[in-house]
Amino acid sequence: DARKRSAQLAQALQTLKLHDGDAVATIAWNTHRHLELYYGVSGMGAIIHTVNPRLHPTQLVYVLNHAQDRALFVDLTFVPLIEAIWDKLESVRHLVIMTDKGHMPACKIQGALCYEDLIAAEDGDYEWPTFPEDTASSICYTSGTTGNAKGVVYSHRSSVLHAFGVAVPGVIPVGPDDALLPVVPMFHVNAWGVPYAAAMCGYKLVMPGPRLDGVGLTELMNNEGVTCYWGVPTVHLSLLAHWRSSGESVPSLRTVTTGGAAPTSALIEGFRSRGIEFVHGWGMTETSPVATVSSLTRADADLDDATQVARLTRQGKKLFGVEMRIVGEDGQVLPRDGKTFGELQVRGPWICSAYLGNAPGSALDGEGWFPTGDVAVIHPDGTMQITDRKKDLIKSGGEWISSIDLENAAARHPEVAMAAVIGIAHEKWGERPLLIVQPAPGASPTKESVLEFLEDQVAKHWLPDRVVFVDALPLGPTGKVQKSVLRERYSA
Ligand code: ADP
Repeated sequence: DARKRSAQLAQALQTLKLHDGDAVATIAWNTHRHLELYYGVSGMGAIIHTVNPRLHPTQLVYVLNHAQDRALFVDLTFVPLIEAIWDKLESVRHLVIMTDKGHMPACKIQGALCYEDLIAAEDGDYEWPTFPEDTASSICYTSGTTGNAKGVVYSHRSSVLHAFGVAVPGVIPVGPDDALLPVVPMFHVNAWGVPYAAAMCGYKLVMPGPRLDGVGLTELMNNEGVTCYWGVPTVHLSLLAHWRSSGESVPSLRTVTTGGAAPTSALIEGFRSRGIEFVHGWGMTETSPVATVSSLTRADADLDDATQVARLTRQGKKLFGVEMRIVGEDGQVLPRDGKTFGELQVRGPWICSAYLGNAPGSALDGEGWFPTGDVAVIHPDGTMQITDRKKDLIKSGGEWISSIDLENAAARHPEVAMAAVIGIAHEKWGERPLLIVQPAPGASPTKESVLEFLEDQVAKHWLPDRVVFVDALPLGPTGKVQKSVLRERYSA
């Protein structure tokens, strides 16, 4: 069905007079129609620009204009969002609502088309064109926490190689006998390559649409016999919280894959204690995204449970095809001793070389390395471990404090749901860490109990002077804690 409907869609795009190299935007959930767009748009030679609906409306306008999108496909949920910004869109000529006739809304935008009508008018007898492998296939913008979002363009070549990279055994354990639920959105970095890898390897795909809460996901997983699901730590946390409070479970679930932010050991234990394997990857919009992956090998089998969990909190080994290294402030390459930290650089066939609109190669140094802005150590066995974002590192009395390590330590406290640490300017020490805690549902931990808990785990000078409790940490458009918001709120 996906093949035939993608072909019908490709024909419909031609009927709408879209050509090779035209950008076609989507603002959509993970659905079968979105999958058809992935194949139909890129397959006919146009470029699919997957837009994150959680962007601020001014950023939405910016990215749609910047990418010069000619057509826009939106799910019903996002019609009001588009109505509000429609007048500001400069290049979009067609709006298609991803539904059938029976569900077409009374849309304020004249000439809005209905997805099912559009493809029903075509027969699907379509000869897929061939073109050079470096032809652009998709565009994704970084979430743009500071300044305007930057566009990353993926080619057919990079997407196929990345899908191979993700699909080989030992990376993410999924096979043709699996039912995979991508909670990771198709509007963010091609859902980590799932739509391509799934078709390549023949997994069953289960698309969650807009219902991403613990109750909805659990029900869907059980109805569809889901064996693997991929998502960011905040999604896993809400799922585990739901399982704990309701007593529900998903007996078919075998593997959970995470990425996008550092998982805490408490999170990893939450799944492992239920017999669910935990896989953890690192990457960014600029790296397609998967560049490293952490999973246990045969050699780790004899380690005790706590050591295995500690291994899994590391971001892992590079995928075949990717190179990585850490460098110091003056650019010298640092040793892989598990202690020395520096900025992580990566290089490879699915690493971005320039942002959309910039000169070719301008995102790389002279030797083709991409500076990630992440700070990491590399252990002697080749596993990489992120210690911070460059901009989040805290320097106190000349010593570095890793905000991720401190957050991890705090999140192990049984009454803590999530924790964030930021540096606050300090007269004597330069900076001191401030710990911001979101308590577990129904719990009210005290500052003393949290600090006492940390004392056993971190060096004395790492202990925060202050602890703030909040109902909810601010989350950005990709589900990560927005430290910029916390800095604005607390730095004074
Ligand atoms: P953004 O546009 O917010 O940068 P990305 O999804 O591209 O969105 O984010 C990439 C960044 O997310 C990485 O540079 C890193 O800081 C963080 N990140 C991604 N995966 C992990 C991980 N497994 N552990 C820790 N941090 C991660």
